[in-house]
Amino acid sequence: MIKANNPSLTSWVEVPEGSDFPIQNLPFGVFKTPGLRPRLCTAIGNFVADLQVLSEHGFFDDLKIDKAVFAQPFLNDFIACGKEKTSAVRNRLSEVLDSDLDDWDASELAAYFLHPMDEVEMLMPIKVGDYTDFYSSREHATNVGTMFRGKENALMPNWLHLPVGYHGRASSIVVSGTPIHRPNGQQIPQDAKAPVFGPSKLMDFELEMAFVVGKETQIGSSVNITEAEDHIFGMMLFNDWSARDIQKWEYVPLGPFLGKSFASTVSPWIVTIDALEPFRVSGPVQDPTPLPYLQIDGDRSFDIQLQVDLQAEGQPATPICRSNFKYLYWNIAQQLTHHTVNGCNIKIGDMMASGTISGPTPDSYGSMLELTWRGSKPIQLPDGSERKFINDGDTIIVKGWCEKDGVRIGFGEATGKVGSEQ
Ligand code: CA
Repeated sequence: MIKANNPSLTSWVEVPEGSDFPIQNLPFGVFKTPGLRPRLCTAIGNFVADLQVLSEHGFFDDLKIDKAVFAQPFLNDFIACGKEKTSAVRNRLSEVLDSDLDDWDASELAAYFLHPMDEVEMLMPIKVGDYTDFYSSREHATNVGTMFRGKENALMPNWLHLPVGYHGRASSIVVSGTPIHRPNGQQIPQDAKAPVFGPSKLMDFELEMAFVVGKETQIGSSVNITEAEDHIFGMMLFNDWSARDIQKWEYVPLGPFLGKSFASTVSPWIVTIDALEPFRVSGPVQDPTPLPYLQIDGDRSFDIQLQVDLQAEGQPATPICRSNFKYLYWNIAQQLTHHTVNGCNIKIGDMMASGTISGPTPDSYGSMLELTWRGSKPIQLPDGSERKFINDGDTIIVKGWCEKDGVRIGFGEATGKVGSEQ
């Protein structure tokens, strides 16, 4: 077992019941305060732990890592140290925060390296190079296909043979809490012959998760599926905001463009593959059997419970979707392997999102498009109002967590409030 995953570990830092951040998680992020420049951190209970201060005090000295990586505004250089070292840092953090401290005198340092979470600003943790969005939920692809092409032709002939994806826009990926501006664009009104221009009227979210590439490849080479996870540093929550009216008019024949590229929201924490190990599960049975380069051994999916809340202005948050990462038909190893099979190189900090994660039941659909079935079944909110799509002033909150054998680790939140003000 990975040392930091030991379910019997407890921390001398108080971890409230139901916290996303017990000692078994130790995700990585980047924070700043009015007095401190951006630097790397982990999360424990309701605190962030400053890795720059810990490194300055020698806590990572024997791990032979350049101290400068902990003082960066992004995790990229830290990730580039390689999994052996980043895993060792996580295990070391678990020793430093363990309530059975022996060699360490970290409790005296607590005042220097721990900050209450509500007193820090979490930053975009990764400088994203390229962003790819997959389309790996069979339920989502079937729902959308049924709406636009009818039930007979819902899944395209290639869908069960390869993880379909497209190259997205990295520049507009923002961290949780960043306001989301309702995009302008061309739309074609029902039965009209010519498009009109204006703000999207069909603003939507997409419940997704993303993984971050942790090991690069050279152009012309491809990653064997047995080694695919070695190239993945960790995972985060991802909301791929979508303007359905802009998307519908522009996407034929090439695919998504301005209907998607205006914004995507990520959670500030990257939960490592190490931390996710105890929560491995098999994914759905794949029939037909994929081609040999996509065939997997063992459990390549994860049991991650997902929830989306909608919070109208001045109202409490209401859950509108409950899904699970394990519903995805294509897993992250298959996605990464397929991405490189043509010789396309990948780089540290590249982000690859799952595609909308819809489950089998209508309450597990991962977008308004599906939840309201194109607006035909509006969602009722507790204040008596209803939603077909997202209104200005609405906040969408994506949450995710894993729970097993008394241990619960979470991803924090990917939150964004939609508005039209500049
Ligand atoms: Ca998407």
